[in-house]
Amino acid sequence: MTNQQKVQKLIDKYQKKLRLEHWTIALEMKSGECESVAECRVQGDYLKALVSVWPEAFEKTEDLEHIIKHELCHILTAQTKLISYDLLNAKFRTHLEIDSANEILTEWIARII
Ligand SMILES: [Zn+2]
Repeated sequence: MTNQQKVQKLIDKYQKKLRLEHWTIALEMKSGECESVAECRVQGDYLKALVSVWPEAFEKTEDLEHIIKHELCHILTAQTKLISYDLLNAKFRTHLEIDSANEILTEWIARII
């Protein structure tokens, strides 16, 4: 099994466990320098995410599963990060928007466990 197949298998497994079945999660195998072993870019409005994985992620294979779990969890937390960045950039967010994002994330976690 290639490294790409190993990662895809983990994405498939955790996409289900995290109740992300309606999301399109693409995988990109990277090479060259990186600041981390993997990253996840989320387009929440379109239910799309791109998981990028660098070769360093395969140095300790027992960590690979956790790395992929971590990256997919970024999909869950993306909205709260967006709100935080908006506030940092002085973009107004209402109390209701913040409460709603928090409630959605909380319910999402509750349904997973
Ligand atoms: Zn992270």
